Amino acid sequence: MEKETLLLPARDLTADAGSIALAGRILREGGIVAIPTETVYGLAGNALDPGATAKIYAAKGRPSDNPLIVHIQAMEEWAPLVRELPKEAEALAAAFWPGPLTIILPKSALVPDTTSGGLDTVAVRMPADPIARGVIRAAGVPLAAPSANRSGSPSPTTWRHCADDLMGRVDAILQSRDCGVGVESTVLSLCQRGEDGRPVPRLLRPGAVTPDQLREALGTDIVVDRGVLEHLGEGERALSPGMKYRHYAPAAEVTLVKGTTEQYRGYLEKTARPGDWAMCFTEDLPVPGMPACPYGGAADHREQARRLFQLLRELDGRGAERIFVHAPRQDNVGLAVYNRLLRAAAFRVVEPQP
Ligand code: AMP
Ligand code: MG
Repeated sequence: MEKETLLLPARDLTADAGSIALAGRILREGGIVAIPTETVYGLAGNALDPGATAKIYAAKGRPSDNPLIVHIQAMEEWAPLVRELPKEAEALAAAFWPGPLTIILPKSALVPDTTSGGLDTVAVRMPADPIARGVIRAAGVPLAAPSANRSGSPSPTTWRHCADDLMGRVDAILQSRDCGVGVESTVLSLCQRGEDGRPVPRLLRPGAVTPDQLREALGTDIVVDRGVLEHLGEGERALSPGMKYRHYAPAAEVTLVKGTTEQYRGYLEKTARPGDWAMCFTEDLPVPGMPACPYGGAADHREQARRLFQLLRELDGRGAERIFVHAPRQDNVGLAVYNRLLRAAAFRVVEPQP
């Protein structure tokens, strides 16, 4: 599917207005464009045009039962996409939009089945990145935008990652800033109803908006879906089809190592062989037996999230055969980091004995 891919400078809404207008035109005409968002780069296409979404699935090599998130830039663009907007959805949008939260509701007839992966529901988000919003505005249509990587590989947090994966497969790539959040949006479903008739909020994918923040905005508890931290068995249908077994994975074999700095170091010392790399916390340095790249302080989950995917790609570039990652705590944004690492590691987790 070799095609010409335009590289369009897009760091500033005013200075790069020409790039944004051109991206808008390409999208309106059914093309696909990699765009920055605050979470990761997205591969955008007209969410209401099955031809455009088919191009997204093909360029990514993504299974077509994996639904796409629809991106909007103004509140009034939401209602036409869904059957109704419960007050819980409005409260969440007021608290977190624009920002890294995706809300799933029963879909309207406007949303094609190709966008929803055949489901009767639609995931919607309003991104905060000004360039993303400018492109949606220029396109004049809601944009489906899954991560702009080849399916299965680490998500792209710089435009160069998009170019590495998608050059010759998409119409254009916007050359903008590195992503500030670094992991995909929090995904919350409001599709299920409780006995009182109100939606039961269910977290399908953790992200920068944390479970505690969601509880506080809703004034109720939320359900954390089992798929967030567990490997669903064969035949068990993931509510969020993207949360499958191996995902976000570099070419190297990734292992998550739990425990204290002492236990982590002890495990590396026993295990090390040539080709190994440690992806550790700053506090773990120096580690024995292998070269190391810190991905943030043990308590700095936001820094870990920002650097995670970039480092996995970098270690591939350096020829790493095995990567031993010190596992973060599973609270706050750490839950999102742990969730991605678990899949990058295909659920390979070791707990060294004290
Ligand atoms: P990506 O856009 O690549 O970050 O992936 C979107 C994620 O949102 C996937 O993991 C999907 O499983 C999930 N998702 C999108 N739409 C829905 C939906 N209607 N129901 C459940 N999960 C969804
Ligand atoms: Mg993705």
